[in-house]
Amino acid sequence: MRKKIIYLDYASTTPIDSEVLKEMLPYLKEKYGNPSSVHFLGEEAKLATDNARKKVADVLNCLSEEIIFTGSATEADNLAIKGVIENCKLSRFHRGLTTKSEQIENCHIITSMIEHHAVLEPIKALEKQGVEVTYLPVNKSGIINISNLVKAIEENTVLVSIMYVNNEIGAIQPLKQIGELLQEINELRKKSGVQKIYFHSDAVQAVNYLDCDVKKLGVDFLTLSGHKIYGPKGVGMLYIKKGTPISPQVLGGGQEAAVRSGTENVAGIVGLEAAIEKVKSQKLKVKSIEKLRNKLISGIIKTIPDVQLNSSIKNSLPNIANFSFKGAEGEAIVLALDQKGICVSTGSACSSRSLEPSHVLLALGLAEEEAHSSVRFSLGRYTTSREIDYVLKILPGVVERLRKISGYSAR
Ligand code: PLP
Repeated sequence: MRKKIIYLDYASTTPIDSEVLKEMLPYLKEKYGNPSSVHFLGEEAKLATDNARKKVADVLNCLSEEIIFTGSATEADNLAIKGVIENCKLSRFHRGLTTKSEQIENCHIITSMIEHHAVLEPIKALEKQGVEVTYLPVNKSGIINISNLVKAIEENTVLVSIMYVNNEIGAIQPLKQIGELLQEINELRKKSGVQKIYFHSDAVQAVNYLDCDVKKLGVDFLTLSGHKIYGPKGVGMLYIKKGTPISPQVLGGGQEAAVRSGTENVAGIVGLEAAIEKVKSQKLKVKSIEKLRNKLISGIIKTIPDVQLNSSIKNSLPNIANFSFKGAEGEAIVLALDQKGICVSTGSACSSRSLEPSHVLLALGLAEEEAHSSVRFSLGRYTTSREIDYVLKILPGVVERLRKISGYSAR
């Protein structure tokens, strides 16, 4: 028999909404056409993807043609980052500004130290090829300092990639401010004929709670994922501002305006659209999620000694609480809670099963040991007060037992 599940890992993935699933099912069964086929089944599938594109575009306040569907947010992040850099180096080469061997060294990217691996890894790969990169530090709450960003801008800066919300601690970056700043800088650069700086943001964790109007944010690229918003896995999307040059990263049949080839995941795209539409009607639940998160935080602080809250309450999402439990391994806590049917994560396990200390927590200034003792609780649409009570009943004993094993005595 399946044990009782207390799911507090919504930042890793969300259960699919039953209405979203219902919208998707016909495209997995009777409406199985390929949108590129000219017959009626193909036409039906094309209509569904066109309609989804239009509705997603409405939510983001952009044009349908500015939405490119991908196989994941990871793919969308890779497309934005590699696509911009590749295009810049090609255009520089064609304009005779560089020799072939110098093409790539001339580009500079600014990002933050706490990005998701889906952003950091393509950037690191480009860095190995000679691209210059500035990794902005963050303060104790996980927020970058705008003046550090200004100082980092060089004449060869072509891309700023800053996530909207961090997946481990929920920190919200001042995206709108960055967008306005880059707009001003780009106007000056335009007058003097200097390359524009493009602005990309990974907004995967933001959509459920924050306004993702691309015009208000001032972004050129915005990444989203289906499975973080109660939609399906295996589908993501990239907003690409009209007229932004980008080199495709997946070549083939020329689907998605030849920016991302491959037969469209029609059911996934329909699911992503249904999920993002539903987010609007769920915004009212935010206050109750925040109340439950605060109950969890105060309950943990009251009942367990020597704990440290790594996520800030201000400037962060209302659903994430990241704690370090001194003297107890985060992984061991996660496994012990799993035995009781409680699903949570360590921050570092969000994208892989790596046992490395979280780069995000290290960037906040935590010692390796503190980072290793961290656990992320992320609440969502279906979290109840009784579930929080249950966690608060189980967790103190788990931490106490693990501390005994490690020989740690709490204050
Ligand atoms: N970006 C952020 C901030 C995430 O939290 C995640 C998922 O953990 C991703 C990107 C990757 O999303 P996907 O699983 O759709 O590739």
